[in-house]
Amino acid sequence: MIDFSKLCIHTQTTKPWSIEECIINFASAGVKGISIWRHLLEGKDLNKIKSLLDSNQMDVVSLVRGGFFPSVDSEKRALAIKDNKLAIEQASAIGAPLVVLVCGADSKQSLEVSRLQIKDSITELIPFAEKRKVKLAIEPLHPMYGAEKSAILTLRQANELCEIINSPWVGIAIDVYHLWWDDQLENEIMRCGKNKNILAFHICDWLANTVDFLTDRGLMGEGCINIKQIRKWVEAAGFNGYNEVEVFSDRLWAKDQKKYLKDIKKSYLNYS
Ligand code: ZN
Repeated sequence: MIDFSKLCIHTQTTKPWSIEECIINFASAGVKGISIWRHLLEGKDLNKIKSLLDSNQMDVVSLVRGGFFPSVDSEKRALAIKDNKLAIEQASAIGAPLVVLVCGADSKQSLEVSRLQIKDSITELIPFAEKRKVKLAIEPLHPMYGAEKSAILTLRQANELCEIINSPWVGIAIDVYHLWWDDQLENEIMRCGKNKNILAFHICDWLANTVDFLTDRGLMGEGCINIKQIRKWVEAAGFNGYNEVEVFSDRLWAKDQKKYLKDIKKSYLNYS
């Protein structure tokens, strides 16, 4: 069945394009959803971006990304809170219902201490986020990112954190790239859904012979993740939002991005 109604693409997937090119090219390809990476908004008039999104009938799925809360340095933690408030304001200005959080880690302290700081920081942000009607989505990352990028490394840890925080303004972004290997994935997806905590679903593929753990992701179908299976679990757990294509790939960024956009749609239909 040809159905693109749930297809969303992250602007970072087509990294060579500006925000304006992403909006216009996605819309003309029949893609309804867009997740916007913050660096593309630097120096931009957000009202103009919002108008361009509206006139192209694009649905902003999320703003990516906030987070990076933990640090041994309390000044850095305070700066992170400030930056996350700015992200929430930007999200509100462009009509994004959620900010994705890459929670952060500081290799100079334990993961446990980092996790406590993440909990405290998110808790501190809730009133600010609620006032602007913007949700916060904790994205558990693959354990290979535990040193610097995130102390939240499994869906179980993200579920536990959400259950402790227990706010309708805080949930989880499930990304197949980070979680596909977990033998408890189905159970934890069900738990996440039961608590109404699934806020987003990110897709791409894991290349068996990957050459870079950051910028060598595969397009759906190129690797070893059973994306259809994970999507079934997420949907069975009650999620009915967008499937967000989030691919960082030097190899794919080097392609003609309009041709690549066609490949994304094909791969989305066949492998997700
Ligand atoms: Zn993701």
